[in-house]
Amino acid sequence: MAKRDYYEILGVSKTANKEEIKKAYRQLAIKYHPDKNPDNKEAEEKFKEASEAYEVLSNDEKRKKYDQFGHAGMQGGSDFHEYGGFEDIFSNFGDIFSDLFGASAGGRKQQRSKTGLTPQRGHDLSYNIEITLTESYLGTKKDISIYHHTSCETCNGSGCKAGTKPEKCSHCNGTGAVNFRQGFFSFAQPCNYCKGEGFTIKSPCPTCKGQSRVQKRDTLTINIPAGIYNGAELRVKGRGDAGVFGGTSGDLYLHVTVQDDKKFWRKNNDLITYLNLTYPQLVLGCQVEVETLDGQKHLIKIPKGCAVGQEIMLPGKGFPVPGSLSRGNLIIITKCHIPTKLPAKAKELLLEYAEKIGNETSDSKSGISGFFKKFLG
Ligand SMILES: [Zn+2]
Ligand SMILES: [Zn+2]
Repeated sequence: MAKRDYYEILGVSKTANKEEIKKAYRQLAIKYHPDKNPDNKEAEEKFKEASEAYEVLSNDEKRKKYDQFGHAGMQGGSDFHEYGGFEDIFSNFGDIFSDLFGASAGGRKQQRSKTGLTPQRGHDLSYNIEITLTESYLGTKKDISIYHHTSCETCNGSGCKAGTKPEKCSHCNGTGAVNFRQGFFSFAQPCNYCKGEGFTIKSPCPTCKGQSRVQKRDTLTINIPAGIYNGAELRVKGRGDAGVFGGTSGDLYLHVTVQDDKKFWRKNNDLITYLNLTYPQLVLGCQVEVETLDGQKHLIKIPKGCAVGQEIMLPGKGFPVPGSLSRGNLIIITKCHIPTKLPAKAKELLLEYAEKIGNETSDSKSGISGFFKKFLG
């Protein structure tokens, strides 16, 4: 069959400008639109023909080629677009059709494969969880109670009463859109009755009232891995709100707060604590037992002449490094314990010691007079 001239198809002159071409195509598209001509082969052909003509004439380069070589200039090259079906045309000229037909152009594609209500993913939920430093050191399990949407067990998340299915909306005949006329044009807007779904539930499940899910309180046991940081976020996949009409569930995000401990703290992956020692212990050296967060006891050797603030490290006794087999260290920082009360004998010996090394103290026999003696000479 000989191809008709593109200008002739659109009914425009060879010198028509872009606006005229677009206007002519709109008119033909409205006239032969498949929504208005169901099962009309001739209209379908005219619609495709007009679309092809418009594709070429609305494009400066293609139009130039066409003007020079006619249909021969189009064929075989990549410029030529043979339209297979309406979907092709709709996707190619989506802007014009959304102009003309509102939601119906974009909506068609989706509705073609639909057999029911659109599944929607459930919301993600977040929850705060507090653990002790010991729990973060060892790892723990926590039971948490959350109020969330779960898939309705009565209807298996379909929202329908047993033995029933969503039915095509009778108001929009399953398209999800209703057309209304305004003068010459026909517009489409989402169907109010089915909220644009194209399907409705005629016999809702009595448990969820057709919502496909119910709200309820669930208790979940959460595994908290050893080494977890303060401020870390744990994602528990699929434990947020259930999806609507078979959509996937959202996730549950747990924000972990690690409480301060009275004796220990964390820096990077190291576990740190102070160790109080007496002056003689620091001066003479000693061995002391230190208990860590897991209750294990470690024998620590304090060297002779140990300074206050000295860091003693026990490798690998700190926090597990998340995602690896290594651990941080246990760091013990020495402090000197200063007694506020001393047994009389101890005090006597300390005073004697002070005098021996030439220190004057508040309790020295020479006392204040000795102090002034030094200054006043
Ligand atoms: Zn409807
Ligand atoms: Zn139900």
